Amino acid sequence: MDTESFFSEPVVQSIDTDWVSGSAVTLSVLRLDVIHPQISGNKWYKLKENIRLASDKHKTTLLTFGGRWSNHLLATAAAAKAFGFHSLGIIAGFDNKEAELTETLKSCKRFGMELSGISREAYRQRYNAAFLEDLQNKHTDSLIIPEGGNNDQGRAGAGAIANWIPSDITHIALPVGTGTTFSGIRNAIPQTAKMIGFAPFRKIDEQVENIQNYCPEIQKECWEIFSDDVWKGFGKYDGNLISFANDFYQQFEIPLDIVYTAKMMYYLKEKIQSHLFPSGSRVLAIHTGGLQGNFSVKNLLRY
Ligand SMILES: *Cc1c(COP(=O)(O)O)cnc(C)c1O
Repeated sequence: MDTESFFSEPVVQSIDTDWVSGSAVTLSVLRLDVIHPQISGNKWYKLKENIRLASDKHKTTLLTFGGRWSNHLLATAAAAKAFGFHSLGIIAGFDNKEAELTETLKSCKRFGMELSGISREAYRQRYNAAFLEDLQNKHTDSLIIPEGGNNDQGRAGAGAIANWIPSDITHIALPVGTGTTFSGIRNAIPQTAKMIGFAPFRKIDEQVENIQNYCPEIQKECWEIFSDDVWKGFGKYDGNLISFANDFYQQFEIPLDIVYTAKMMYYLKEKIQSHLFPSGSRVLAIHTGGLQGNFSVKNLLRY
């Protein structure tokens, strides 16, 4: 299966501005957002080994989980369509009514994904072994992919992002959701480069634990995760964040998504200005995509 030629290549774009040069560091952005409009950013990397597994196991359907605005759900729907699979999405807090469809879910449907809404309580079972076994028995032709592509295949696939990281980079910044992408890259690059994650929510214990578990060889000094202390919650934003994203686009023509990458870049700017990075550091921020989710704030953004 030739999947690579289906995608555009990521690009590295350098960011020249006073808040960077004033700190004696360099900053560039690895733009994974440009690889595909729907199968975007880190989501493709987390899916690709799962798709290979589905194909090896002769599964015909990709079954996965997500919320009503999930980037992963849409990436799965579009990838399934592109590479000849059916897809089934199990959606938290969605009551299966047409009127409740978000733009993301409408797009999933356009790619042929069958949607099955369940209550938020039932959704909490999504990592439970008995629940998954039952689901597998009901859907024998499906490969079950966890929410966010959070499995061994997801981490292995994310490791391939390292191929696009220039070898002279000293620090890598990226947004963290489950930590799957972070772990995959962390295991794939030398420990001479430090990784810094920005989670767009407050509680990061689970993410820290996951990274410790999946990156057992990695020294503590080589990575760090910060929580979202300004907006204090997933999907939360204010006029400040919107202005930041609009200004960033105006200056660099890089669109940021309001959930993950705008917050990462906002915090990264703060860290650069407060000299978290030693003079001479070469920092690479990973744009993990997710721009489709901006539909919910499209009236506020100037891109
Ligand atoms: C899903 C997502 C993340 C989080 O990735 P994890 O591997 O779950 O940590 C980061 N950025 C964007 C844009 C995403 O859509």
